[in-house]
Amino acid sequence: MAGKAAMVFCLIMTMLARSPIRAQQDSTFAQYPAYNGNDLGLTYQAGQARVRVWAPTAEALALHIYETGLGGKPQKTIAMQKADGGTWVATLPAATSGFYTVQATISGKKMAEVAEPYAHAVGANGQRAAFVDPDQINPQGWLADKRPTPAQFTDIIIGELHVRDLSMHPASGIKNKGKYLGLTEEGTRGPQGVSTGLDHLAELGITHVHLLPTNDYASVDETQPQKPQFNWGYDPLNYTVPEGSYATQAAQPAVRIKEFKQMVQALHGKGLGLVLDVVYNHTFDAGRSAFEQLVPGYYYRQNAKGGFSDASGCGNEVASDRPMVRKLIVESVAYWAKTYHVDGFRFDLMGILDLETMRAVSTALDKISPNIFVYGEGWTAGNSPYPYQKRALKANTHQLDRVAAFCDEMRDGIKGHFARHEETGFAGGKPGLEESLKFGIVAACQHPQLDYKKVNYSQAPWASTPGQCINYVACHDDMVLWDKLAASLPNTTEAERRAIDLLCNTIVFTSQGVPFLPIGDEFLRTKQGISNSYNKPDSINQLDWARKARYQDVFNFYKQLISLRRNHPAFRLPTAALIAQHVQFLPSPAGIIAYQIKGHAGGDRWGDVTLIFNGNRTSTQVPLPAGTYQTVLKGDKINELGLGTLTVANGAPLTIDASSALILTQGN
Ligand code: CA
Repeated sequence: MAGKAAMVFCLIMTMLARSPIRAQQDSTFAQYPAYNGNDLGLTYQAGQARVRVWAPTAEALALHIYETGLGGKPQKTIAMQKADGGTWVATLPAATSGFYTVQATISGKKMAEVAEPYAHAVGANGQRAAFVDPDQINPQGWLADKRPTPAQFTDIIIGELHVRDLSMHPASGIKNKGKYLGLTEEGTRGPQGVSTGLDHLAELGITHVHLLPTNDYASVDETQPQKPQFNWGYDPLNYTVPEGSYATQAAQPAVRIKEFKQMVQALHGKGLGLVLDVVYNHTFDAGRSAFEQLVPGYYYRQNAKGGFSDASGCGNEVASDRPMVRKLIVESVAYWAKTYHVDGFRFDLMGILDLETMRAVSTALDKISPNIFVYGEGWTAGNSPYPYQKRALKANTHQLDRVAAFCDEMRDGIKGHFARHEETGFAGGKPGLEESLKFGIVAACQHPQLDYKKVNYSQAPWASTPGQCINYVACHDDMVLWDKLAASLPNTTEAERRAIDLLCNTIVFTSQGVPFLPIGDEFLRTKQGISNSYNKPDSINQLDWARKARYQDVFNFYKQLISLRRNHPAFRLPTAALIAQHVQFLPSPAGIIAYQIKGHAGGDRWGDVTLIFNGNRTSTQVPLPAGTYQTVLKGDKINELGLGTLTVANGAPLTIDASSALILTQGN
């Protein structure tokens, strides 16, 4: 499950958690032999299919072969042979078809049958692995598929989406409702002829589509496709297999593989990259998991009593720091990048994983493509026994290379606290949050004008480069922005809330770093005030395309705002040094942030860009350097070619409308 705010961790807790039981377990696990080869799971070589599974504490490992993915009796059971590095191997004819499970015997006990952890194909509900090689299952034209190649990570603009939400609405005009193939349909239209689906994503102007978990997860019964079921998918079952419920035939392993690739191909065809939301921090039901049935205790961290520790808030946390767990995570990510041409990864509760694992992830991905972008939630949902200093928490982001974290300073500074729904932020007129926004404006980097002591959460910069900072005001977690504004500003008109909504994302999309938008917020998406919709019906979660028709002016604003960012490198500076050099904050009254991006920053055709954000609910006077300016953004209007000129005389302040942004340029 996704994360909760800036978590403050206490070193004392970590020390207390280092109990004798845990220390003993850790030293026992350290003695398990590791396997260094790159052929764990099912591989095809020299005319043979070989299954290799790591189970160093097992006395025996059986491989059961089935005709189907669920039900029936094994056609055959093979005793796997003990091999090097704690592994067990079975060799079969390459033409072997059907499904398989592995079953360990440990301390005389027969454990449950499981799909092995390196499975790349599974049957319905992920219970059995399949004799299928995803590298051989390609849609037409797959070999010519090319990933987008952003020149720098700060050129990336992320739109977050759930596969099902895009297409489920009856008026979406999309045939393959709730499916990967729904993202491949072109020319789909909704009410009043507005574009929907893939066309909408392309029209909006984002560069990358970030999908909520699409690896095989447990909470949706894949054998009941007609039954209305919804889940975000933060309950991973098989890490390296596409989720079956989004395929047209979940029971056919090859279908989910092919359709997933078709989706990637369609996105790439529109110039859009694909980011996967990956949940390597915990698994669904640890006790019955393949991990626990094969190597008890090894894959999960333990608490002081020897039970599962729970930094995920979901009952367990994965021990990424143990070598064979790290190997699994790194190889799983690399497999998605290589076999499915995935362009980025968003790590759920990344603060549970250790820094060394995240560094290994970067190194592995870099070898596949330097354009693959990695970011994550730099926090946890509970305490972890693994030391704070060694985990990929937000404060440690600067110790990572090319891995970004979400900036909750900016998020909650703009709109108010994520969980205290009635609380507003800077954009709703709450005082004292200016420095928290400035922290996001400089992409959580070092800047000489910032007073870090006044920032809401972090008291120091945590990014060493702007490509390490994801700026946003909302995501799938908690209320969507439109509902948050209604909850936190009850005595406002819709027109006032619209102005505040546009101000929120004008701040995000002009800030340095990498901006992020939950798809649907560009037409004032509502979830009827529900703050946690992880298992709510489609009626709550689906994108209502009638709202795009109704709020076309809002959508057009977002589209132009994204276009403004894409056209102007001044908003996308690649280094902290350039930000410190070109971004200058101006003295301004309370509730106002005014700053300039000066000197053709990033090679921009605009000389100086002046941005003024008025969070006050009343119009406010702001002193500006004297001169003649060209207006390019004013409240709900954007025109890069100019909305008119404005002359500011020496000492004469400018009046900024309530709850609005003003962007001016000079020296064009
Ligand atoms: Ca599933």
